[in-house]
Amino acid sequence: PYAGPSASEILKKRNEFLSPCVFHLYSKPLNLVAGKMQYLFDENGRRYLDAFGGIATICCGHCHPDIVDALVNQMNRLQHSTVLYLNHAIADFAEALASKLPGDLKVVFFTNSGTEANELALMIARLYTGCHDIISLRNAYHGNAAGTMGSTAQRNYKFNIVQTGVHHAQNPDQYRGVFGSEGVKYAKDVQDIIDYGTCGRVAGFISEAIQGVGGILELAPGYLPAVYSSVKEAGGLCIADEVQSGFARTGSHFWGFEAHGVVPDIVTMAKGIGNGVPIGAIVTTPEIAKVLSYHGYLNTFGGNPVCTAGGLAVLRVIEKEKLQQNAFVVGSYLKEQLTSLMEKHQIIGDVRGRGLMLGVELVTDRQLKTPAKVETLHIMDQMKEMGVLVGKGGFHGNVFRITPPLCFTVEDADFLVGVMDYTMSKM
Ligand code: PMP
Repeated sequence: PYAGPSASEILKKRNEFLSPCVFHLYSKPLNLVAGKMQYLFDENGRRYLDAFGGIATICCGHCHPDIVDALVNQMNRLQHSTVLYLNHAIADFAEALASKLPGDLKVVFFTNSGTEANELALMIARLYTGCHDIISLRNAYHGNAAGTMGSTAQRNYKFNIVQTGVHHAQNPDQYRGVFGSEGVKYAKDVQDIIDYGTCGRVAGFISEAIQGVGGILELAPGYLPAVYSSVKEAGGLCIADEVQSGFARTGSHFWGFEAHGVVPDIVTMAKGIGNGVPIGAIVTTPEIAKVLSYHGYLNTFGGNPVCTAGGLAVLRVIEKEKLQQNAFVVGSYLKEQLTSLMEKHQIIGDVRGRGLMLGVELVTDRQLKTPAKVETLHIMDQMKEMGVLVGKGGFHGNVFRITPPLCFTVEDADFLVGVMDYTMSKM
């Protein structure tokens, strides 16, 4: 039994001593005290099905025993900074990670977060090409440091920006975009930016394969190959932000970009890579990585022995428990079930995504696609009361984000859909 402070005591301290921008998902914030695989427990021992996974952070399950063992064993042996000395945990994980990437992508730089990984990728693109201009997509989220906030393109997350030389291209949004699912048509905007907004040469292009914070929007098919070709022709590097869509989440592939048939020059990752411990990384080619050999890039804790020991355990669990296949099978089933709810509930405007990275967009009018903001909050709150946690996102905050731990089962999917159905019926 939990003997710690109550939710209201924690909330009081949080209000007094923590940043005013921490936000809670629910009208009555949850006090979580334990986790086990796809379940979370509050201070009263009440169990919740976790269909958000701390924003796609938990890929193998909360407190997965193999990962906890790897972390504890390494902690007992040695925790240290990443730089200065040799340690096998760091090298072993780099080797294992490189083996998951296609082509010549095999040099790893470790960081502590997704923001740091993207900052590093943008810096490398600029150093390597000698150019400054970066193209990213409207509705993207890439981080909250000055440079990544510049490439992020949602006003909710932009306030301290180094935006010089950043261009935001039209989003290949299959639900609201003017060209529907015709990816190649949206790609023309990137070529236009290169032709009319730069000197004709750029440092690079960065995008997610499925926009997570942006509301689980999978880029329209055909978009990435056309854009990668324009960017490469302009001398730029193509960066794939796999912070949410990586590590087997999309089911059909290990990385989100693979579904689009492209090979990036730099892949950035975080969240799922550590199943909850703070670690991020970029992987690039030896030729591109060389640009940093002339500079002293230093990151004290990025990829330290404990986090990399955890990361290696994550890769082993994904393999051993066939989590990619599970994400494919359970994710496809869940998407089907959610789609069939559309017949019953007019409020569902769109169901989308891939594997266990799914979105349900709520609208008050299917024709006009008017965002159902208040209803989304209400349904989310009610689902929590019934023991199911989903996330929310999209520019208007009207999209449920379903990104559970990849050990999610068909029974979990049925429970989630049942609870969503019941809650919508009670609206
Ligand atoms: N890229 C993407 C696609 C993300 O979703 C996020 C976090 N939401 C980041 C980068 C930044 O990662 P972090 O919060 O670890 O800095």
